[in-house]
Amino acid sequence: MGEGASSLFPNYGRYGLTFVKGEGSRLWDDTGKEYLDLMCGLAVTNLGHAPKQVSERLKEQVDTLWHTSNLFHIPNQQRLAELLTDNSCADAVFFCNSGAEANEAAIKLVRRYFQKIVGKPEQYEIITFDQSFHGRTLATLTATGQDKVKDGFAPLPDGFVYAPYNDATALERVIGPKTCAIMLEMVQGEGGVNRAEPAFVKRVAELCEQHGLLLIVDEIQTGIARTGKLFAYEHYGIEPDIFTLAKGLGSGMPIGAMLGKEKLREAFSAGSHGSTFGGNYLSTAAGIATMETILGDKLSERAQELGTYIVSTLQQKLAGNPLVKEVRGLGLLIGIECTQPVADPITALQEKAVLVVSAGPNVIRLAPSLLIAKEDLDSGLDVICSVLSKQSAAAV
Ligand SMILES: *Cc1c(COP(=O)(O)O)cnc(C)c1O
Repeated sequence: MGEGASSLFPNYGRYGLTFVKGEGSRLWDDTGKEYLDLMCGLAVTNLGHAPKQVSERLKEQVDTLWHTSNLFHIPNQQRLAELLTDNSCADAVFFCNSGAEANEAAIKLVRRYFQKIVGKPEQYEIITFDQSFHGRTLATLTATGQDKVKDGFAPLPDGFVYAPYNDATALERVIGPKTCAIMLEMVQGEGGVNRAEPAFVKRVAELCEQHGLLLIVDEIQTGIARTGKLFAYEHYGIEPDIFTLAKGLGSGMPIGAMLGKEKLREAFSAGSHGSTFGGNYLSTAAGIATMETILGDKLSERAQELGTYIVSTLQQKLAGNPLVKEVRGLGLLIGIECTQPVADPITALQEKAVLVVSAGPNVIRLAPSLLIAKEDLDSGLDVICSVLSKQSAAAV
């Protein structure tokens, strides 16, 4: 159903499906049909739908306290921040409600660091990459390296320049006297499941070091064990100065986080940045339960193993399919690049009760739950392969 006759803005192109219940990797629609969810609400429900570990913690919190504002101490925030800093290269955390806000906070922090701590206000430009995605606020859509998200929103804020992804030589040419930071995704989730090459990332880190720039890694989609490490930067042997989280952090409760190294701590002082809801009792309760489950059950390792299995299975089964150009991924963030748009295969999969999502026009993206049962995964992969072989037969 379109939204022409509804009371919502028509800013989403929605499928004609309405889900009424979820459990683990299963969703049920309003006709009672059961689906296998291989997309997790855009890499959000990493522990599956309504996971017990999180729902129990949330129920307890719902009966205790929801919100007090950041005018007061919030012990849950402290606890979640410790879980994050104890398991990453970061020393300080700011909580907000979404990915865009986390990146917005990162952008504000680097600007303020150069103005207040380094004393070089003329250095305010952030380099981001073609095909990147960093959010929908004015600053983060400007940071995003895709024209379609900017259409109709001029004037855009100053201070962003772009470089081609995985091209260190081109990046070097873009670094100038105004550059203060480089902002990077380790896997471009929205942009097509494009992985950063290890040599490129190493060079980015070297260039940051050499030119005194800050490295911001956007882990909003890749973080919280999705790629087979708690944070995707760990695959590359580098440490960002700042990284951002959202999607998987609260298992579906809205929460975002911006994390930074010690030297950046004092760049924010009391009153310099804030959020009314950010890190409230409910969202941080979900974050704590999510992180404890991910760490306690070693789900990074499971994501790594299952991801390797999916990519090799799909590569094998799809070999020779003229519709399929490449299967690639990092952990459980996987892309099947096709030679033509994937809108039809995605609807065909929905009809066969399997939910996946696109990443750009030609890539089918899989982001299954880190807890998905092997049998469910196998049956989902069978459906994908049979739908893609039918589609390729129909295309010739
Ligand atoms: C989803 C996403 C964002 C934006 O997050 P929102 O919560 O939608 O604001 C930013 N960066 C990346 C890499 C994302 O995948």
